[in-house]
Amino acid sequence: MIIVLKPGATEAEIEHLTQKIKERGLTPHLTTGKERRLIGVIGDERAIQNLPLSIFPGVESVLPILAPYKLVSREFRQEDSVITLGEGVTIGGKQVPVMAGPCAVETQRQVLDIAKAVKAAGARLLRGGAFKPRTSPYAFQGLGEEGLQYLAEAKKITGLPVITEIVDPRDLELVAQYADVLQIGARNMQNFRLLTEVGKYQKPVLLKRGLSATIKEFLLSAEYIMAGGNHRVILCERGIRTFETQTRNTLDLAAVPLIQSLSHLPVVVDPSHATGRWDLVAPMALAAVAAGADGLLIEVHDNPEEALSDGEESLKPAKFAALMTEMRKVAQAVGREI
Ligand code: PEP
Ligand code: MN
Repeated sequence: MIIVLKPGATEAEIEHLTQKIKERGLTPHLTTGKERRLIGVIGDERAIQNLPLSIFPGVESVLPILAPYKLVSREFRQEDSVITLGEGVTIGGKQVPVMAGPCAVETQRQVLDIAKAVKAAGARLLRGGAFKPRTSPYAFQGLGEEGLQYLAEAKKITGLPVITEIVDPRDLELVAQYADVLQIGARNMQNFRLLTEVGKYQKPVLLKRGLSATIKEFLLSAEYIMAGGNHRVILCERGIRTFETQTRNTLDLAAVPLIQSLSHLPVVVDPSHATGRWDLVAPMALAAVAAGADGLLIEVHDNPEEALSDGEESLKPAKFAALMTEMRKVAQAVGREI
């Protein structure tokens, strides 16, 4: 349920109200919109059935939430959520930050060279996996902490904030030391333990859509994170599995405006994993910006032929820089800024 507060509701009134809700075993989430403050109440609402919330001081009205996801929904928050990812880098507003870098961190030299190249081209964040969720147990699994250290080094030199994947809740403290944004991969979208743990953490999380997840399932996974108290969630459409075999996945571009109509959270598109083919990355990236994506996640490698993972879908730095120029034009045409 949502409790809409009166414009003049005092802190003491809000405290009294949230205290009563907590006493009944439910969790209040206060959110401040442009015009109103709201409290989202999460938990078994039967526990407050006999609590006359509408007559509490400071309360304007009490509304049920119809969507199965609550904190994630537009009903809970009408305005777009704008999340700060690093100094001068925000997502969900006018700026459309591009997060670029290799699929996997391979060597110190590799990640630093790519970081410098993507920074020069205008990327706002550096991506790179140190813990890789590979389909085969025999494939390169990532450098682990060593990889995180290389990312930190590249961040120090380029100033780019880092987004990197976490695959195991036991690594949270470690990964969070290095990451500005925690990435949860498609294969872990329904790892509810992992979602719950990052939900307790105050760090932005980029949640990727599962390989065969519906939008409802995707939003419910985001709800797990928000229900834990971490409201800085970014959703990422990275292609879904269909009958088509010419591409690695099928980019569900309609998911961008659709999710934006259902949720206030920013939506990022990853054209690299969505297609699995470097030659399709640029057209899909441009289409994503045109469709209103709030950010892009793009794989870049300086030597794709030798890449330890996803070389076939990685752009070389020069191609990436050319794409950035094109994306800026599309962004401008739709009132955004790369
Ligand atoms: C990645 O971004 O490196 C990745 C593994 O992507 P996904 O989880 O979408 O497959
Ligand atoms: Mn990859």
